[in-house]
Order: sequence, then C-alpha cells, then structure tokens
Amino acid sequence: MNSITQQNIQVGEIANGLPLTIPVYRIKGDGSGPKVYVQANMHGAEVQGNAVIYQLLEQLKPLSLCADITLVPYANPIGCNQKSGEFTLGRFDPITGTNWNRMYTDHSVLAQRFAEQYPDLAIAEIEQQFRQLLIEHTQAHLDASLDRLTTGKRIALNLQRLAHEADIVLDLHTGPISAKHLYCPEYAKESASYFNIPHVLLIPSDFDGAMDEASFCPWWALQQAYATQGREIPVLTEAFTVELGSQEKIDLDEAWHDATSILSYLNYKGAFKDASFAPQEMTRYACLLENYRAFYAPMGGMVEYTAKPGEHVKAGQPIAKILRMERYLSETPLNEITLDEDAIAILHFASASVNQGTELYKFFTKVETL
Ligand SMILES: [Zn+2]
Repeated sequence: MNSITQQNIQVGEIANGLPLTIPVYRIKGDGSGPKVYVQANMHGAEVQGNAVIYQLLEQLKPLSLCADITLVPYANPIGCNQKSGEFTLGRFDPITGTNWNRMYTDHSVLAQRFAEQYPDLAIAEIEQQFRQLLIEHTQAHLDASLDRLTTGKRIALNLQRLAHEADIVLDLHTGPISAKHLYCPEYAKESASYFNIPHVLLIPSDFDGAMDEASFCPWWALQQAYATQGREIPVLTEAFTVELGSQEKIDLDEAWHDATSILSYLNYKGAFKDASFAPQEMTRYACLLENYRAFYAPMGGMVEYTAKPGEHVKAGQPIAKILRMERYLSETPLNEITLDEDAIAILHFASASVNQGTELYKFFTKVETL
C-alpha cells in the first residue's frame, strides 16, 4: 500500500481572522514517472471532482507507482461555501465578480529569454530548470508585499505554485447540466483518446486566465521560442480541464468511472508499473473552440430543455420549448426553439426560468471524430 501524506496549505484569511486552507494529498512513486497534479472544485457548485479525487486515492493506494501524484480537493475554500438558499453559487468571486478560474498568472514571458540564455541545454535540463523558474516566479508573486494580491489571486497563485511542479495537470470541473467533455490543447490531441470522454474541445494555446492555460502556455511558449532558434523540442507539460458532468451533484459510482478514465490516461503517460488501465472503445467527437457555439435565449420565459446533454441534434430539430403564460390569450404561449445547424448539445442552463439573452445551451458544431 502506498502511503498518502496530507499537508494543509494556507491560501488566505477571512474576516474573522481565521485561516483559509486547502488539503493537499501526496503519493510518491519511484521517481521514474511523470509528476501529476489534480485539483477539484475551483468553482463552488462543481463538487463531483472531490468524489473523483476520493476514488483516485482509493485506486492509487495499491498500485505500483512511477509517478508522484498531488491531489487537491476543495481547491477554492470560499467557492463551495458560497450558498444562496439551497444552491451553491461559487463561479465568481462574490466581491469582484471575477470568474474564479480566470485569476491565474501567465508566465509565458519567461520562455523567450530562457531559450536565448540556454540554446543548447539538454531536454531533461530544460525541463528541470524551466520548471524551477516557473515555481520561483510564482513564489515571488506570493512573497511580494501582502497588499499586492486580491483574495482570488492569492488562492490562484498558491494552486499554481503546486501545479507548476507537475508535467501533467488536471483541473476537474463540471458544467451546469452537462455531458462529460474535455478541454484539450490542440498540441496534446493524441492524449485525448486515452480519457473515456466522448466530447473533446480543442483549444488553441492562448492564455485566458484558466488553470489549464496557466500550466501549459509557458511550455508552449518555450517550445515556440526554441523553434524560432531552429531547435525542435516537445511541449514538456500537458494540462486539461476535465468537465465531469453536472454541477451540484455527487455520484460515487460515476466518480469511480471518471477516476478510471484519468488512470487510463496516466497509465499511457507512464505513471504506473504493470497497471492494466486502458481507454474504452468509443467514438470521440472533437470540436474547435471557435466552433463551440453558445445559444442565447431568444426570449424570456420558462424553459423545457428537450435536447439532452450529449444528444446529436439536426438543423431544424427542436431543442427547447419556452412557455410564456402572460400571453396565453393573446398569442401562442408555447414557443418551439430550433437550431439552424447540426450539432451536439453539450450543456444547458441549470434553471428553467431565463431572461432573453441567457446562455441557454452550448453546442459542439462542425464536429469531427478524433
Ligand atoms: Zn468550472
């Protein structure tokens, strides 16, 4: 049995002076495999990742490990406690309105100078030294004067400090009411087939503040910087946002399957000795981020979502009915909503009452198979 250690890291203080902490679990391998970082629940209502970390720990205990694995449930100690009535909010910092997953810092600027400084360094040395640079740079932000950081930035930098130690980063999220899908950087497309996730969103290597981007963008920039010098190196870190399904829900059986899916990918990356985790056979549908279409409610009203997450819909097929009872006597109170192109419904809004312009659905369009 592998031993698991726990460290509680302080990521801030709340108004009564009490510390905000996150639990960090570590399992050590024999050092021959990758370093892996998994976090969950950055968005408050997206709780299923905690159950997946539980099932990962359960399955990792008896394995023969090459990889060092760090797991952080409850990554955002404010988010999951931010309740309103029976619902969890926790997608945005309640004070600033900023999305909790847009507060990470981009360290891509370090790449150009590093490549110029060390043009001929061996790959293993590049990996070790650039990683050290990212960690030190993140730590320097945290060590700066206390008045320089917002609450959210301080939490994000602490998580990023842990994530930069790894060459595989998985950020576990969920949609509102959602099918499983994977945010995968285009350069890591091949890895997507090792997760048991049928919907893959291929994203460019641009930074927009999220954990996956903060983790891989500097390494992408480093590869680009060496390429401009005429040297080909691989992108030495992979990071994914794993969207596990719907928010506000814990399903331990499903979490076991999702843990197995992650273990299949990690097995492919050489994390274990003699493990048999393999990806399931399934059709994996891919969509470019630019074709990931948000569908906004064309009118206010009460919605029945008829296209279910994961459903393939044809152009002209109804996707929702919007009921407007204030017009029962004056016109048709029931409005059938259709989409004008073929698509896969990935997720929809969690509530049945919507304003005009609410993001009703998100669809994969111009879909290809992986
Ligand atoms: Zn999320």
